[in-house]
Amino acid sequence: MDFAEAQKEALGCTRCALSHSRTRVVFGEGPLNAELFIVGEAPGFNEDGEGSPFQGASGMLLDRLLASVGMRRDQVYLTTLVKCRPPGTPPRSPRPSEVSSCRPYLMVQIAAVDPRVIVALGELATRVLTGRKDPLSRIRGRAVPLDGRYVFPTLSLRKALYTPADRALLISDFGRLPELLAAERPATYETLNVPHQPDDGREPVQPGLW
Ligand code: SF4
Repeated sequence: MDFAEAQKEALGCTRCALSHSRTRVVFGEGPLNAELFIVGEAPGFNEDGEGSPFQGASGMLLDRLLASVGMRRDQVYLTTLVKCRPPGTPPRSPRPSEVSSCRPYLMVQIAAVDPRVIVALGELATRVLTGRKDPLSRIRGRAVPLDGRYVFPTLSLRKALYTPADRALLISDFGRLPELLAAERPATYETLNVPHQPDDGREPVQPGLW
């Protein structure tokens, strides 16, 4: 399945129960040559209405985070683990079976865009994209090299919206993205733990942190 086929199929998808709770499928958006790829958990109320990822207060926070590192949303590919809004107010988290059903679309998106860095927003996106079960508090802010790119786990936008301390951590994590985007693509399964400091004297690759 190529990108166009995946998008077409997803727009009418009924693979999982979330097809009943959505208004619109939120497949994702952004340039197919984006170096930065951001993955949230699921569309919410605003995204479901607009058909676009990261709207409302979360979207405004994301725009501010990107601006803080000199980027705009139209330079980034944006999507979510599942493409349909889960039920509930606030919406519940997607179930493992729903994430599995939707996973092929995400994999096609990643393969098509082939970004240098994938930001995983929140615990569930981190688990899915790194394949690790570590609590987010343990691996947040550490770049995980996988498949020639870095997966960068951080907090969810929703969590950061309501907790100033979490917002400060998210801002700090985004501050490391320019350095990660400028780094060589990883060739091995090693962890890049890039401190937010000038290039002088830093060790770009530190194996064995896991
Ligand atoms: S969440 Fe994904 S798998 Fe489930 S119905 Fe929507 S597009 Fe299909």
